[in-house]
Amino acid sequence: MKNIALLGSTGSIGTQTLEIVREQEDLAVVALAAGKNISLLENQIREFNPKMAVLWEEEDAEDLRGRVKDLPVKVLSGMEGLLEAAVMPESEILVTAIVGMLGIRPTIAAIEAGKAIALANKETLVTAGHIIMKLAEEHHMPILPVDSEHSAIFQSLNGERGNKIHKILLTASGGPFRGKKREELQAVRVEDALKHPNWSMGRKITVDSATMVNKGLEVMEAKWLFGVDLEQIQVVVHPQSVIHSMVEYEDGAVIAQLGTPDMRLPIQYALYYPRRRKLLGKRLDFSKLASLTFEEPDMDTFRGLGLAFAAMRRGGNIPTAYNAANEKAVSMFLDRRISFLQIPEIIQACMESCTYAGEPDVGRILETEAEVYSFIESRW
Ligand code: NDP
Repeated sequence: MKNIALLGSTGSIGTQTLEIVREQEDLAVVALAAGKNISLLENQIREFNPKMAVLWEEEDAEDLRGRVKDLPVKVLSGMEGLLEAAVMPESEILVTAIVGMLGIRPTIAAIEAGKAIALANKETLVTAGHIIMKLAEEHHMPILPVDSEHSAIFQSLNGERGNKIHKILLTASGGPFRGKKREELQAVRVEDALKHPNWSMGRKITVDSATMVNKGLEVMEAKWLFGVDLEQIQVVVHPQSVIHSMVEYEDGAVIAQLGTPDMRLPIQYALYYPRRRKLLGKRLDFSKLASLTFEEPDMDTFRGLGLAFAAMRRGGNIPTAYNAANEKAVSMFLDRRISFLQIPEIIQACMESCTYAGEPDVGRILETEAEVYSFIESRW
């Protein structure tokens, strides 16, 4: 039996993780954590019987305690609750499926407590990759990517230890606005940005796909996960999302992982690595695949992608400024307070205004986030 602690159980990745647990008899959940969705968390507790459950606000946790008082589950709240869930002695692996920088501290605590990490929360590596990767190495704990592209790269690296990577080819669908020019994106509505052509995901990451900031975050994530130079990462727009990413080796061989767009595959692969398990769902049918096409990303229109490379080149806390600015800007866009094209403008302004710190510790990373938030609030 493999015991899992799952942070972000009510979200898109969280619920798909629980679908896998439901199908597999040798997986069990020992802790579940969510933000605000009390009813769904209650249902999940009733179905999966964790020993611990966490909600962000103490008031919500108190409500949940009343609802599940017939069950032997400990209900906690806040960062303390997340940290306790992350280090539970009974768990073997922590699935980080919460959004935002909230994921950093529980991930650190889990690595220190000897847990493997199934990492969906890319913000953790974007902002604290220098801390997390070093810590994971020191504690000999694997960071198993859940993001589909990184899982594809991870799978393409199997059996290649010691072989030199020439390039990582990170594929991108291009999102709902692929092929459009800046002028055409002036009047984009929230509803338009939330229509992803291939993947069904949470709202924030769906907007990130529309701006291509998601790909920018993934470039940074890939750099940390696979230890390559930024120049070795090439973004390739591949609208069909069949090839989930590729690795080109120094002899020119390109190894790829292909599949239908189903996040359960990378989640399950991370949970069982290095073993594969049966997964029910759609399969690729090559007789019906009309064509696979590839394009260069349009960095002029999707400025968020170029800004990610710039942020990573500057390093230090600038990727944190990029990420924090994007989080705030996306939430303002979803609240209809700013336009779609203002998202990269805000990111750029925050990267330029932020006080630089070379090797930020967690405290400095969180200070950078606060600095960026107050800068945005004073300006927009
Ligand atoms: P969702 O918005 O669907 O889910 C977010 C989860 O985090 C929810 O369970 C939410 O709880 C929880 N949460 C939010 N705030 C808090 C908080 N303060 N304390 C505890 N839990 C909280 O996001 P996704 O599942 O789409 O994404 C999760 C992470 O995975 C992100 O980092 C994303 O970039 C990454 N990712 C997602 C992919 C996808 O296909 N969706 C693909 C690859 C990576 P509640 O709903 O109860 O408020």
